[in-house]
Amino acid sequence: MQQWTGRFAPTPSGPLHFGSLVAALGSYLIAKQKQGLWLLRIEDLDPPREQPGAASSIIHTLERFGFQWDGEIVYQSQRQSLYHQALAELSDKQLTYRCDCSRKQVLQRNSGVYDGYCRERNLSPQLEAAVRIKFAAGFEKFNDRILDDCIFEQPEDLQDFVVLRRDNLFAYQLAVVVDDIEQEINHVVRGADILDSTPRQNFLYSCFQKRPPLYFHLPLVIDETGQKFSKSKLYPAISEHQASELLCLALIHLGQKVVPDLAMGTPSEVLQFAIKSWDISKVSKTSKKVTLQDLAIEN
Ligand code: GLU
Repeated sequence: MQQWTGRFAPTPSGPLHFGSLVAALGSYLIAKQKQGLWLLRIEDLDPPREQPGAASSIIHTLERFGFQWDGEIVYQSQRQSLYHQALAELSDKQLTYRCDCSRKQVLQRNSGVYDGYCRERNLSPQLEAAVRIKFAAGFEKFNDRILDDCIFEQPEDLQDFVVLRRDNLFAYQLAVVVDDIEQEINHVVRGADILDSTPRQNFLYSCFQKRPPLYFHLPLVIDETGQKFSKSKLYPAISEHQASELLCLALIHLGQKVVPDLAMGTPSEVLQFAIKSWDISKVSKTSKKVTLQDLAIEN
C-alpha cells in the first residue's frame, strides 16, 4: 500500500495564529498516527497577499512547537513551470477558455455568479483576460472523514471557476491540486473554511485523470464575536514561549484527551503523547469558540 502522505500548506499572509496551529496539529497527527509522511508547503502564490517575513516566521514557529516535516519545504512560488504545464494540459483538452468579464459585469448580469458568458467567445490570447475552466456537474457531493457526506449545489458552487487570474497569477484551486498530485498527497487535512473548494478540486483531479485524496476538514476556531480566526484582528501571533500550553489547547479544540501536567512537558512530548492517543471520532463537526482568556494561558 502507498505510504500515507499528508501536508500542511499555509499561505504566508501573516504569522501562525491559533487557527492555523490547529490545522498544522490535526494534519500532523493524522499523518503520524499512520506512520506517514507530513510535508510542509508554503503557498506563496499571491505576492500581494503575502506579508514579508511571514513564511520564515511560520517555519520558525512550527519548529519551536516541535513539528518535524519530512523532506524539503516546497514553495509554490518556485513551481510556476508545473502550473504552466498543467494549464497547458487543460487547454489541450479544451477544458478552459479566456474570460475578460469584470466582477462588476458578472454582478450586473447574474448577481455575481459567473454565467459562462465567455465560453464560446474565443477571446484572443493577446487580450488581457483570466482563464476559466468549464466546470461540469457530478462533483457536488463528496465524503469527508470528519463531516461525513457533504454537498454543495448552489449556483455559486457550480460556476466555471478561474484557474489563471487576469493578473497572470495561478489560482489557488489549480496550484493546490497540481501540488497535491505531484507530492503524492493521499489525504488532505485542513480547516473547514476550505470545505466548499473541495468539489472544484475533485473536478480538477478528474480532469487530470487522478484519484482525489481523502479529506478531513477540521473544526474552525472562531473568536468571541463569531469571526474566523485568520480574519480576526483580535488575535496576535501565537507565542512560542507557551508552545506546550497552546498545543494542549489545540488538542482540546480537536476533542482530544489531555492529561494533567501534559502542558508541563516539552512540545515534542506533547506531540508524542497526542500521536499515541489520537482519536478521530472525537473531533467536532462544528466550529468552536476560543476566547482571549483561553489563549492567555499564563494569566
Ligand atoms: N493555503 C491554504 C491556507 O493557508 C490552505 C490550503 C489547503 O490546505 O488546501 O488557508
